[in-house]
Amino acid sequence: MNPVADKTNLLDFDRQAMEAFFSGLGEKSFRATQVLQWVHQRGVDDFAAMSNLSKELRARLQETAQIRLPELVMEQGSRDGTRKWLLKLDSGNCIETVFIPEADRGTLCISSQVGCSLNCTFCSTAQQGFNRNLTAAEIIGQLLVAYRALGDTPKGERRISNVVLMGMGEPLLNFDNVVRAMNIMTDDFAYGLSKRRVTLSTAGVVPMFDRLREANHVSLAVSLHAPNDELRDQLVPLNKKYPIAELLAACRRYVDGAPHRKITFEYVMLDGVNDSPAHARELAGLLEGVPAKVNLIPFNPFPNTSYVCSRPAAIAEFRRIVTHAGLVTVTRKTRGDDIDAACGQLVGKVMDRTRRSQRLAVGQERMVR
Ligand code: SAH
Repeated sequence: MNPVADKTNLLDFDRQAMEAFFSGLGEKSFRATQVLQWVHQRGVDDFAAMSNLSKELRARLQETAQIRLPELVMEQGSRDGTRKWLLKLDSGNCIETVFIPEADRGTLCISSQVGCSLNCTFCSTAQQGFNRNLTAAEIIGQLLVAYRALGDTPKGERRISNVVLMGMGEPLLNFDNVVRAMNIMTDDFAYGLSKRRVTLSTAGVVPMFDRLREANHVSLAVSLHAPNDELRDQLVPLNKKYPIAELLAACRRYVDGAPHRKITFEYVMLDGVNDSPAHARELAGLLEGVPAKVNLIPFNPFPNTSYVCSRPAAIAEFRRIVTHAGLVTVTRKTRGDDIDAACGQLVGKVMDRTRRSQRLAVGQERMVR
């Protein structure tokens, strides 16, 4: 048998890549559909159990291919029902994946890179630096691990109805692998999620917007966080490369000709930095004419940050002003903050050992392996 490392990981393949793989083996393209269904719909990772494949093909796949998932090393459950999984990758790096249950949906927040290269000043992932891109298998593997851990509802429905690429990393800087993984999410023979229920969040890698629309027209969220270039340059340094005017032009193109589509603009609420009524009015003016929703995110603190979350009254007033200007504005509920699973708190590697060991002591955390 080939060593594990030499085997092709079929988790890396969307339909197109899977069809190419089977045609390379001299097999018909419908084999791609069958294997996608086994792996992603039934959660089977043993080729021997794939009973509608010929015996010879099963043997051949066992010899040359594998379905290799990231290794689940730790699971934590929040008081509010949020769950977080720490996954170990081949290289020894770790990433985090978070499930957020709500009354009408279940959202999985997944990572696209180990660390991040963008250095947004209010984000704890930035402090960790950038290590590498995730493979498509590692991205879609987060869904598979979560599906397995969550099981179905008593009615037999899947618990994950939405996926957001809002974990660690900048998805548009890992374009090909992210698109492959999203193709699997939106493929009817895999997860069958509608494109509207898969949301890619970006700090604004402008040149990739048009390509994304062409590759897979999923929902787009843009981390705006400031209503002018001067302030945004400080918070999201990528703005110096792709300033707000270019960013908004790319946003308009993304939803052009798709009348019901809106871009979500994320805006982290930082006390005394970007949260004044004047900022709110400036934001409303900036987004005039853009098909936009605004998502206000209360800042989630992390060790060694000097930022503080805006006061609730300031957030409420900010929201009132932006709503009054005609924009649908929601304040995102902070979820899972007791297990450091909230936005901007994902760090992957186990960094705050002290707090984690305290939690272990109170039994909120359990080792899976
Ligand atoms: N790189 C992508 C996706 C990752 S971050 C992006 O920038 O969009 C997902 C969202 O959480 C982004 O809007 C990000 O700006 C926000 N975020 C980061 N750190 C945060 C923090 N400490 N508190 C609240 N939101 C934060």
